[in-house]
Formats: sequence, structure tokens, C-alpha cells
Amino acid sequence: ERTEFIEYFHQVVDRLEISIPEHITLKRELPKSGKLNVWIDKDKMTQVLDNIISNAIKYSPEGGEIRLKVENKRHFLLVSVQDQGIGIAYDKLEKIFERFYRADRARTRKLGGTGLGLAITKELVEAHHGKIWAKSKEGKGTTILFTLPLMSQKRRGNR
Ligand code: ATP
Ligand code: MG
Repeated sequence: ERTEFIEYFHQVVDRLEISIPEHITLKRELPKSGKLNVWIDKDKMTQVLDNIISNAIKYSPEGGEIRLKVENKRHFLLVSVQDQGIGIAYDKLEKIFERFYRADRARTRKLGGTGLGLAITKELVEAHHGKIWAKSKEGKGTTILFTLPLMSQKRRGNR
């Protein structure tokens, strides 16, 4: 359905904040003004955000700050989730979107999970005509980014 993304995004993050570990801080960087309308399935988009943000929390053993950013790129939105966690090796960056793939078994085994989260997330982002990718530096942190097409604004009057 047609959704104003900024207001929706705040709702999702407000709800997540209730149940995150105390040592984690979520920092939001969102455009202040402008109606950013997108056509989304809210349940599915919420699953996308939940998956990405819960990974950021899960793979940030030392806590730290997670930056949630939404940027208006005119025809699409760029959403990014940046953590200061364990990071992902460069040669494994593309594999994390594959089913059942889990990088660094020794470290991730004790954290639990099936390795399906990002595979599902990728499918859901693509179903919304978006793209998803990752940037990371081992030991420094990871950024997951995805795009979402903006709906064209209806013009009023004949200008
Ligand atoms: P699930 O999400 O199914 O519970 P999972 O978190 O292991 O399990 P994915 O979310 O698909 O699976 O992530 C795949 C792998 O990518 C993870 O096992 C982990 O190795 C790596 N990964 C994902 N997000 C991050 C992150 N923010 N920092 C470091 N590694 C990450
Ligand atoms: Mg996960």
C-alpha cells in the first residue's frame, strides 16, 4: 500500500527499541521534511528492517552504535544500517545473501540462527523492486544498504 516512509520507519524503530539490549544505541539519520511515499507491503518491509537491524545487534558483541540512515536519492530511497561489529571478510560479502550461508562458523555458531535471514530479506527487497548489498571491514563493522523506489509526486494544478 502507499506509505509515507519516514513516519513508517520511525514506528518500526520505536517498536524495535523497546526490546534491544541496553548497551546498544540506535542512531537515526532521516530527512526531516518532504513526504517520501513508497509502495510497500508493510509486513514484509518490517521483516526486512527487523532482519537487518537484528543482525547488526547480534554481530555487535561489544555493543556500540548502530546508525540507521534514510537518504532521498530523488527516484529512490537509500536505506542503510551501519554497525561497529565483527565485520565480514571481503571474499564472503556476496555469500551472506545466500540461503543457509553463515560466515565464520566458530564465531557465529554460538549466536544461533539458520542463515536464512538475509536470503529472505533479499527476496523481499527485490519483490519491492529494490537492490540490496553489503560493505564491510573485518573487525570494524558492516553496512547493509538497500534501495526502494519512490512514488512520483502528483502535481497539483497545471504548472
Ligand atoms: P538467521 O538470520 O536466519 O537467524 P543468520 O543471522 O546467521 O541467521 P543471515 O541473517 O542470513 O543469517 O546472515 C548470514 C550471515 O552473514 C551470518 O551468519 C553472519 O555470518 C553474516 N552477517 C550478517 N549480518 C552481519 C553483520 N551485521 N555483521 C557481521 N556479520 C553479519
Ligand atoms: Mg540474521
